[in-house]
Amino acid sequence: MGTFKAVVVEKGEGGQSVGLKDFNETDLMEGDVTVRVTHSTLNYKDGLALTGKAPVVRRFPMIPGIDFAGVVETSSHPEFKPGDQVVLNGWGTGETHLGAYAQKSRVKGDWLIPLPERLSPEQAMAIGTAGYTAMLAVLALEKHGLKPGKGPAVVTGAAGGVGSVATALLAKTGWHVIASTGRTQEADYLKGLGAAEIIDRNELSQPAKPLAKERWAAGVDSVGSHTLANLLANTKYRGGIAACGLAGGMDLPTSVAPFILRGVSLLGIDSVMAPKALRLEAWSRLASDLDRGRLVAMTTKIPLDRVIEAGRDILEGRVRGRAVVEIC
Ligand code: NDP
Repeated sequence: MGTFKAVVVEKGEGGQSVGLKDFNETDLMEGDVTVRVTHSTLNYKDGLALTGKAPVVRRFPMIPGIDFAGVVETSSHPEFKPGDQVVLNGWGTGETHLGAYAQKSRVKGDWLIPLPERLSPEQAMAIGTAGYTAMLAVLALEKHGLKPGKGPAVVTGAAGGVGSVATALLAKTGWHVIASTGRTQEADYLKGLGAAEIIDRNELSQPAKPLAKERWAAGVDSVGSHTLANLLANTKYRGGIAACGLAGGMDLPTSVAPFILRGVSLLGIDSVMAPKALRLEAWSRLASDLDRGRLVAMTTKIPLDRVIEAGRDILEGRVRGRAVVEIC
């Protein structure tokens, strides 16, 4: 047993600290599969873990990173053998279980899915948890019976990770996508992903009226708070909004009016504990639906030793689209 490179969050008397270290393989946590991690990504939650701005890390020392792609080194799990390519999203990695910003990870095989056919490890992590969450949101809207013919779909935090993938996926399936962003200078980028209209996020950030003009049939929201309240107030009769994020706040200052007067539905999205069958469905749809050119357009690459700095950038809204962390 040797050591490997890992980003490690520690807690001392002066509070939380983070650095790139040599981590002892004997200190890995329990699990029946050991994976050589080749790629991870940067998600909003990773930014919170790296900076300590919210109590995402619940065990110290912690290796942050909530998702990875890699190759199985050893396995006593019946579904995986050495050499298999795998993907992991969530399940508490980077929060309660040592996570992805490391050359090695040991996890429960039940948490892994095979790398989807037609996706390379790098493409899978360009999608990452943000993209897989966007797909869960689109699936929830579809399962609710919402179709492009019913009216536009709005996406908030559109220039972010979840927002960029949601924009591309909804546009690909024929929706007229209204992309809400604070970075209106990214209009060309968002149109390149398939957005039909761009609106300034300030339009949606003020306290919402109980009901307002019916503007969209569906929505994917990464922002929460007043933005989600405005999305609901502007949703058409029997439309639905998939809520997956809190980049603007965790509160939801709304009323029951959209629900009881317009039959609007609020669809909750959780990627962390989502059941395996739903994960497989989401990844299969991502592999078939997500335009590879658009995926490249929304992706930047960073090495492992840049991820700490990038964690600060994502919380300040300075990361566009998706960031792949190259590990080995
Ligand atoms: P990003 O930082 O990439 O995207 C968030 C975007 O939200 C920003 O790019 C910005 O978009 C917008 N934004 C940021 N701050 C504010 C603000 N104060 N008011 C309004 N808009 C704001 O993060 P991710 O895409 O990785 O994650 C988005 C959200 O989804 C996060 O809250 C994250 O925790 C959550 N999430 C939830 C998951 C789940 O399982 N439910 C899984 C994955 C993510 P723009 O510049 O375009 O305005």
